[in-house]
Amino acid sequence: MGKHGLNGKSVLVTGAAAGIGRAAALAFAREGARVAVADVDVAGGEETVALVEQHGGRAFFIRCDIAQAAQVESMVAHVVERHGRLDCAFNNAGIEIEHLPLAESDEATFDRIMSVNVKGVWLCMKHEIRQMLKQGGGAIVNTASVAGLVGAPLQPIYAASKHAVVGLTRTAAAEYGKAGIRINAVCPGIIRTPMLERALEREPRREKSIVKVHPIGRLGEAEEIANAALWLCSDNASFVTGHQLAVDGGLTAI
Ligand code: NAD
Repeated sequence: MGKHGLNGKSVLVTGAAAGIGRAAALAFAREGARVAVADVDVAGGEETVALVEQHGGRAFFIRCDIAQAAQVESMVAHVVERHGRLDCAFNNAGIEIEHLPLAESDEATFDRIMSVNVKGVWLCMKHEIRQMLKQGGGAIVNTASVAGLVGAPLQPIYAASKHAVVGLTRTAAAEYGKAGIRINAVCPGIIRTPMLERALEREPRREKSIVKVHPIGRLGEAEEIANAALWLCSDNASFVTGHQLAVDGGLTAI
C-alpha cells in the first residue's frame, strides 16, 4: 500500500484537527501508517480520526497543548504505548496573529506566539528525539513557513517564530544525523486552511494581493503541504536532512 513505504509506520501529527495537519493525517493514513492525531481541539481532532476511519485508515486522538511540557511528554509516551515506537513526527501545530507592524505589537502576543510556535516545536522534538534515539532512528518534519525564510511585513513575531523553527531544525539535524534521525522543515506559502479563512475574515480585501505574490497564480492547498511532509518522512528522502523545503508556488523565488 502506498508509494512512500510508510505502511504500518507509527506517525504523530500535531495540529491535526484542521488544515494542513488534518490533510497530513489523512495522507499518512492513506499510505497505511498508524496515525496519532494530536491537537488542543478535541472536536476537530475526533473528526479527523473519523475521516481517517471512513477512508479505511487507522488513527487515534490525543489531546495535547504543545506549549505544555508535561502534556508533550505524555503525548509521545502515549503514542509509544499504543504503537510500540515512533517512526515519523510531523510537528505542524502553530498559531498566527492579527497583522501589525513591529512597533505596535505587544508583549502578551509575543509570549503567546513564541510559546506555541517555538517552545511547542522544541518540546515535541525533544521528546520525539529521545524516543527515536532509543529505537535507533526516525524522521521529523517541522512546519515552518515562507516567513521562516524571508521577512514577512506586518507579521514580525510570527516571522521570528518561524525562523526559530528553521534554526531548531538545522541544529537538531546536525546533532542527530549519525543517530539515524533525519529532521527537516516544510515552508508553506499561503495555503487555504481555517487559519487563512480567519485572516481573510479580518481583512477580506487581502485575498487578491496574496494570490499575486505566488508566481503560480493561486493559493496552495493543504494536501500539497501534506505531500511534501510525506515525502520528507519517507525513505525516498533518505539523504535529505536539515533542509527547509519551500512549498510556496514560487513565492520565495522572486
Ligand atoms: P489551522 O489554524 O487551520 O490549524 C492549526 C491546528 O493547530 C488547529 O487544529 C489548532 O487547534 C492546532 N493548534 C493550535 N495551537 C495548538 C497547541 N498549542 N497545541 C496543539 N495544537 C494546536 O492552521 P494551518 O493553516 O493548518 O497551519 C498549520 C501550520 O502551518 C502552522 O504551523 C502554520 O503556522 C503553518 N503555516 C500555515 C500557512 C497558511 O497559509 N495556512 C502558511 C505557512 C505556514
